[in-house]
Amino acid sequence: MTGRLTVLGLGPGDPRYLTADAASALAAADALYGYGPYLDRVPPRAHQDRYASDNRQEGVRAAAALEAAGKGANVAIVSGGDPGVFAMAAAVCQEIENGPAAWRAIDLVVVPGITAMLAVAARVGAPLGHDFCALSLSDNLKPWPLVERRLDAAAAAGFVIALYNPLSRARPWQLGAAFARLRGILPGAAPVVFGRAVGRADESIVVTTLEAADPSQADMATLVIVGSAETRLIRRDDGRAPLVYTPRSAERASA
Ligand code: SAH
Repeated sequence: MTGRLTVLGLGPGDPRYLTADAASALAAADALYGYGPYLDRVPPRAHQDRYASDNRQEGVRAAAALEAAGKGANVAIVSGGDPGVFAMAAAVCQEIENGPAAWRAIDLVVVPGITAMLAVAARVGAPLGHDFCALSLSDNLKPWPLVERRLDAAAAAGFVIALYNPLSRARPWQLGAAFARLRGILPGAAPVVFGRAVGRADESIVVTTLEAADPSQADMATLVIVGSAETRLIRRDDGRAPLVYTPRSAERASA
């Protein structure tokens, strides 16, 4: 008998961002697999086993969950945000592609979640109101020159850019290098949003411009949105944070 593997997204943090579908999948699972800090967000349940693993153990974690599902269990893998955005759903598909044929018979269900860029965008207005792209700044899974090429192409094409994994203790310089590159292509006045730990108790949002953007304001829990030449910053003089939005229509053919 083959079981089921659900790959679900917990959203950015606060339980109110957990979808009803993800909550039902969590309640129905015999066992949960995931990166420790994500599992810690899920209240424990009697008779539900938990297998926490390190962030870099994606393939091993996916294989362990597939093995359990292959034996008939109903298991779930948890991701932060959405499981398909720089997260476990792709790692699971890759294990299925390269693993035993029997894994293709497992009932695989991917349950979407609110990804970080949508949660951050909603805090400041509508920076993703027109064409945009998402890029991970981590060069753990791709070479840095490829990151540079994609940054250049995205900025030159006029996309608003959502930067995941902007930096970490092991990758301290990448965000500064990305800003330096983008300053060569985009206007210095292009709005930049730092959204840190959105949906959690220690949330903070900083709105600035590309010329003033300070990479040391970001950490691993930060998502950075770099506006295009079209993105607008509306200052509000009653002490409220500025609004950032990208108009629904673009007037010019170049960035
Ligand atoms: N699957 C996740 C992304 C995993 S990559 C999602 O869909 O959101 C991890 C990166 O996501 C972090 O380095 C950070 O850039 C971003 N991120 C995750 N949660 C966040 C939050 N609550 N606030 C801001 N950024 C977050």
